[in-house]
Order: sequence, then structure tokens, then C-alpha cells
Amino acid sequence: MTTGSGPASRGLPVAEPSRTLRAALRLIRLDGRVFAAVIGLNSLAAAAGLVGPWLLGRIVDEVGAGAGVAVVDRLALTILVFAVAQLLLVRWAGYVGHRFGERTLARIREEFTDRTLALPAPVVERAGTGDLLTRGTTDVASVGAMLRDTGPEVLIAAVQALFVLGAVFALDPLLGACGVLGLLGIWFAARWYLRRALTAYLAEGAANSALAEQLAATAAGARTVEALGLQQRRTEACEAAVEECWRTRTRTLFLRSVLFPAVDVSYVVPVAGVLLAGGVLHDHGAVTLGAVVASALYLRQLSQPLDTILQRLEQLQSSGASFARVEGLAPAAHVPPAASPAPADDRIEVTDVRYAYDGGGDVLHGVGLTVRPGERLAIVGPSGAGKTTLGRLLAGLDSPRTGSVTVGRVPVAGLDPERLRRHVVLVTQEHHVFLGTVRDNLRIASADATDDELRAALAAVGADWADELPDGLDTDLGHGAHRPDGARAQQLALARVVLADPHTLILDEATALLDPRTARHTERALAAVLEGRTVVAVAHRLQTAHDADRVAVMEDGRIAELGTHDELVAAGGAYAALWRSWHGERPPSVLKAPPSS
Ligand code: ADP
Repeated sequence: MTTGSGPASRGLPVAEPSRTLRAALRLIRLDGRVFAAVIGLNSLAAAAGLVGPWLLGRIVDEVGAGAGVAVVDRLALTILVFAVAQLLLVRWAGYVGHRFGERTLARIREEFTDRTLALPAPVVERAGTGDLLTRGTTDVASVGAMLRDTGPEVLIAAVQALFVLGAVFALDPLLGACGVLGLLGIWFAARWYLRRALTAYLAEGAANSALAEQLAATAAGARTVEALGLQQRRTEACEAAVEECWRTRTRTLFLRSVLFPAVDVSYVVPVAGVLLAGGVLHDHGAVTLGAVVASALYLRQLSQPLDTILQRLEQLQSSGASFARVEGLAPAAHVPPAASPAPADDRIEVTDVRYAYDGGGDVLHGVGLTVRPGERLAIVGPSGAGKTTLGRLLAGLDSPRTGSVTVGRVPVAGLDPERLRRHVVLVTQEHHVFLGTVRDNLRIASADATDDELRAALAAVGADWADELPDGLDTDLGHGAHRPDGARAQQLALARVVLADPHTLILDEATALLDPRTARHTERALAAVLEGRTVVAVAHRLQTAHDADRVAVMEDGRIAELGTHDELVAAGGAYAALWRSWHGERPPSVLKAPPSS
């Protein structure tokens, strides 16, 4: 039973910072014009916002110089006009920014889907679905929130802050220097926070994934857990995962609880500094009163964008961690499948294969085997001998640690899925019915099959029921009335095999076990599918071996005997002993000829 989540190293990869940054820049470049418009509009808005305090300073100076009401009114009206202009520009910038965010999010979602589908099956199997699920939901949602709200807000705030600081320097460099010095506190607090935040948020994300994985695994294996009385152990595992979640969350909470108070205090410092320094400078006639007022107003104005930036910094950090996890699925993160040449022929060769599951010792110790095209080969042996493992390698689901499994002199596991299924297909009981029409369900195996080919495949596996569906091939499966039962689902799966038309089938009898209620139906369907193909059957019943052309006996990860049934019985080895001691009634094997009726 593999219900536990593995250590972190077995999880899906996370993109390192440099690659995350490159990915972000690429996304910006893909919509570069719009992004430039967002920046431009925000700059205009920020510039419009600078006019108010500057004119207020002018009013102070004009009044000090004895100007009349008319002058003040004119300046006040100008302030109003610019305030309205700023409002409109901010809204426009926000609108363009949101559009940019939504489009980019859509792109990320599409890429995530593509990358998920392109992940090699062993990678997904090892990492567990919990991690993938968390990345596809929580993480993508977090990146979405960043693009929709956080990102644009921070961008606007950053532009505003830069403009405001620039304005103070323009008014008086000395006052500007005072303001910047006053901001040092915020800078230190932010730096302290940023140094710790990414690791902390990554740990929080990993803990969330691990918890989801534990819960999903416990729920999926509920029957096994109950049957083996493992409740206590599962509860403990889940509690440990919750504990880890709590620990990582407390850590990020601590970081926030230091950052925010530090920042609140820091806002007052630059304003106070400018007022103090400005007072002294004004006394010495170095600056006008208006300039001091305007500078103080600017720096007070600074608190708003800075507040936004710092408030959102935390979200940016956690979204950044999420983005790194989403980007972790980009092809560079796992070994890119090199374009493999086409197999030269249909011959499958297993040469000196050793294989180990993650973190374990070898379970196959130098297996060699040639499968002759067209033959029926049964693999038998005691439980744990490595039959299923060899079957998985033959089907290209995984690569051997050393040695090779080739079809037509090309490694099977290196073939792209499209090509692989035209050569070798593993037949199991996992007959999944996909949401979609009958046609969708079948075309998975052969994208450009015509309707006639689809009908022929259904007929080949005896799925006559398909003819009576209300909308024929367009009937939606999986919902309500047309949810195929086990037998029909299996026929659909077998029809897919017919459409993929591989020359070789790997059949694991344990998982291809026929449902007794539907045995007659599916047996015939299976026989039709096996017709004319090479079949390697991982046999759990000796009858299957008896029906095969050749039998390979596996023991302890090695092929101990290889030959026809009669040869092996005559040889008097392990197989002969097994055969003699086998006195059961003889249930039909998967290699049996179709019943005649
Ligand atoms: P068989 O099909 O002959 O019963 P398997 O190929 O299933 O044998 O198993 C061969 C060996 O590999 C066994 O020792 C088994 O415990 C081990 N094994 C099988 N599956 C896994 C797995 N997913 N992770 C780790 N070890 C495994």
C-alpha cells in the first residue's frame, strides 16, 4: 500500500528564483504593449497627484506674500482639476491592469494544464496527486489574485512612491534627503522580512500539499485502512501533517507580526524629520515655508503607497512561492523527453535490466528476454518476484535503472505517448470513462479516427449497446442516464486499444481480472483485442501459462526458466513442480480462445 506522501525530494519540482523571474518576464513580454500602457497610465496618474501638494505650498507662499483671494481660488481650482484627472487616470490604469492580469492568468492556467498533461506518468505517480492538485487550485488561485489585485496595486503604489520622492527632491534636495533617511526604518524592516519570507511561505505551501496528500490518500485508501485496522496510524500521520501546517503558519504569522508594527512607526519618521529639518532651514531662509509644507504633505502622501506595498508584500511573497511551484512543472524542471527515433520493427528486447523503486534496492536483477513478434508469452512466478514490475517496464511506464527495454531497438519508455501507444499498450482493469461523448472517449486513442473506424472498434469488442444510444457517438457519457456500467466501461477501454492498434499488449492478469458478472462479455471482447497481436501476460493463474506459446518463470527478480509449457514440464524444474501441485478447478485464463457462441 502506498498511501504515505514521500519526502519532499520526491515531490514535484519547484522553480528556482532565477527561473521564476524569467518566467514572469516572459509573461510580461507576451503582453508587453498592454503592460507598457499600464505603466504609462500609472505614471500620468502619479504625476497628476503631485500637483496638489505643490500648489498648496504655492498657496502658502502666495498668502505669505500678501496675494488676494482670486489667486488662491485659481490655485485651488487647479488642484481640484488635477485631483479629478488623477482619479480618472487611476481608474483607467486599473482597468487596463486588470485586463492584463486576467489575460496572463488565463495563459498560466492553460500552460499549467498543458504541463500537467505532459508530465511523465512516473513523475506524477511518485509525487502524488495531492501536490498536483494543490498547485492547480490553491497555487494558481494565489497567482491569479496577485495578477488581478496585488500586482497592479503594488505597481501603482510603486510608481506613486517614486514620483512623490522625486517631487520632494525637486522641491529641495536637502528635504528630500531627510525624507529618504526617515524611510530607512521601513527599508530595514522590509529587508528583514523578505530574507525570511520566501523560505517560510514555501514551507507553508509544502506543508499544505503534504496535508492534502495525507487526507486524499487516507480517503482513497479508506477501505484498506479499515480492513487492516490502520486507523490509528493514519490519524497519527494526518495529525503530524496538521501539526506541520500549524508550525509553518505560525512562522509566517510571526514574520508579519514583526513587519507591520515596524512599518506603522516608520511612516511618522520621515514627516517628522522633514518638519524638523524644514523648520531649521526655513529659519535660516534656505527654503520657503511653502516648500516645507509641500514636502511634509508629499511625505504624508507617501504613507499610502508604501502602506499598500508593504501590506501586499506578504501576498506578493506567498504568490511568488506559488508561482515558483506552478512554474516548477515547466518542462525544464524534469528531464525533457528527447525526440526518440521511430522503432525499426516490432521486436521487444529486454537486456540485462535492473530496476529499483524509489529509495529501495533492486527488485529486478539482470533480466534478459526477447519477445518474439506474434507470440503469447506468459510470465509466472511467486508473488513479489517482479512480474508486475517487468510488465510496467515492458509497457514503457518506467525506465530500467540499468540495461534496456527496447522496441525495434528504441527504448520503450523514451517513446512519446502518441508513438508508444501504437506499439505497446498495457491493459488493466482501470477502465476510466472520461466526461464527454462516446466519440471523445474513443478518440483519445486515435485522434483522427473516422466514425466508421470508431463503430468498427466498438463492434469488435461486442459493444452493441453503443448503437442504441440516443445520440449515437455524440451521446454524452459519464452523466446521469448514460453512465456506463463496469462491463461497458471495460468495453470502451478495450475499444480504445483496438483503435490505438498496438502490435503488442501487456496484460496484467491481476488487474485485467474479469468481473464475473460480465465475464462472458468482456472475455470475448478481450479475445478480439488480443487477436493478431503479441501478448505478454503477467499470469497469476497457471492455466494462462498453459495456454501461452512460451512461459517465463520469474523468481527473486530473475528469469529462472524460459520455454514452452511442455518443455518446462518435461524439464522437471520449478515450473513443473508448480504445475504438478496445481490442482485447482481451472478458471479461464486471459489467453483462452473466445467461447464459441
Ligand atoms: P509480482 O508482480 O511478481 O508480485 P512485483 O513486481 O509487484 O512482483 O514486485 C517486485 C518487488 O518490488 C517486490 O519486492 C515488491 O515489494 C516491490 N515493489 C512493487 N511495487 C513497489 C512500489 N510501488 N514501491 C516499492 N516497491 C515495490
